[in-house]
Amino acid sequence: MDIFRSDLNAGFKNKLFETEIEHVNDRNIVLENNTLVCELTSCKTKNGFRITGHLINNAVNNCDRCLCSYIVKDKLKVHFNVYNNPSSVDNRKDDILYWPSKKDSVDISDYLIEILLVEVPFKKLCSTDCKGICIKCGSNRNDGSCLCEKNK
Ligand SMILES: [Zn+2]
Ligand SMILES: [Zn+2]
Repeated sequence: MDIFRSDLNAGFKNKLFETEIEHVNDRNIVLENNTLVCELTSCKTKNGFRITGHLINNAVNNCDRCLCSYIVKDKLKVHFNVYNNPSSVDNRKDDILYWPSKKDSVDISDYLIEILLVEVPFKKLCSTDCKGICIKCGSNRNDGSCLCEKNK
């Protein structure tokens, strides 16, 4: 996912960025349709640009109880600064992306995937009251009771 210098110079507001990520599996995360989606706003700072907005958490998780896959799809806030010269940073509280002045775009995919990786929960549940799978027949008990239960 690239942000172009020309776009940064012009400034953008609530701009939708969508990029297909090919090798996301190397990073131990699966995204819905392998697509990274975010909506960003840029503004000029003294020595660079500040980007704010949100990233769609479309990571596909597998429920620990029923094994089905689910997507949380909440919005994660993102805010970072982009600089050509790391020594000219105005605001050290935000994350900083550096890109050489020769390049006309900055790739933010890795940065955004890192944010998604942090969000992957330790315990993955499709819902807090997930019933899990039947230990006898292996059917998903969220889909209704299985024959084993009816025969009890
Ligand atoms: Zn579940
Ligand atoms: Zn069963």
